[in-house]
Amino acid sequence: MDRYALIGHPVEHSKSPLIHAAFARQTRQKLSYRALLAPLDGFSDTVQMFRKEGGHGANITVPFKIEACSLATRLTERARLAGAVNTLTFVNDAVVGDNTDGIGLVRDLIVNLACPLAGRHVLLLGAGGAARGVLFPLFQTKPVSLTVVNRTVERAQELRAAFAPYAGQTAFTAGGFQDLDGWEFDVVINATSASLENETLPLPNSIFAPNAFAYDMMYGDTPFLAWARSAGVTQLSDGLGMLVEQAAESFALWRGVRPKSARVLRELREKSASNG
Ligand code: NDP
Repeated sequence: MDRYALIGHPVEHSKSPLIHAAFARQTRQKLSYRALLAPLDGFSDTVQMFRKEGGHGANITVPFKIEACSLATRLTERARLAGAVNTLTFVNDAVVGDNTDGIGLVRDLIVNLACPLAGRHVLLLGAGGAARGVLFPLFQTKPVSLTVVNRTVERAQELRAAFAPYAGQTAFTAGGFQDLDGWEFDVVINATSASLENETLPLPNSIFAPNAFAYDMMYGDTPFLAWARSAGVTQLSDGLGMLVEQAAESFALWRGVRPKSARVLRELREKSASNG
């Protein structure tokens, strides 16, 4: 049986083993996928141990996505641009690093949520690993403008400098939360970890254009989504679909077959609704 794993710290609450097991059943692939806790100073050793056990590939989560980038012997273009890796594939002596987070977000927005990005004004909140991972795929959808704001303004500006060559026709700007007064956006994506800390962001209510969409990469009913609802937004989503879609992309890379991700996402939503 081919072996895969999610490597991170912590990993015990992750839904990834459930998602990959559902993909394997659906596509009749024989594989195992488990969560593997790596010590904070032992990521590389954990990967080597897993390879020795016969591991075929691994997803990488917090806080190792950047370390995984240096560990890979070959990077895909999107992983190189993101400077972060969430998918490793072991091919003989090579370790191929890829990043499927961005395509996962874009697919969730466009396909699952029917939220187009082409020709729209998009606001991305945050400048950490997740924001880096989604910028290039977001530009490929051709929004008319993309604005990145971050608590530490310099980090947003660094992203602007690094990604400006890939913006194409999209007007690409960067700044801080205080710069948002008077601006309106069609799609607002929260890529900060403020919701994890149960904190809200210092955003003006007026940032939402009519019929705007609010998206939080974190899953659950987050403080950001509650705030957007109170600001009058009716189209909202958490990041569960992104999680399922990035997993589907990794699965397709490893197995050469694309699972029906919408069905698995529906099952997960039903399960969490029945758990209250
Ligand atoms: P990082 O630690 O790399 O970055 C955190 C970002 O959040 C930084 O921009 C940081 O700003 C900002 N931030 C943190 N706390 C606050 C706060 N209280 N107020 C304002 N800004 C804050 O994390 P990641 O980028 O890896 O992850 C971000 C989020 O995305 C997490 O919630 C994660 O769970 C989610 N995620 C979801 C995925 C999915 O599949 N659904 C995939 C990947 C990530 P500063 O630079 O100023 O510190």
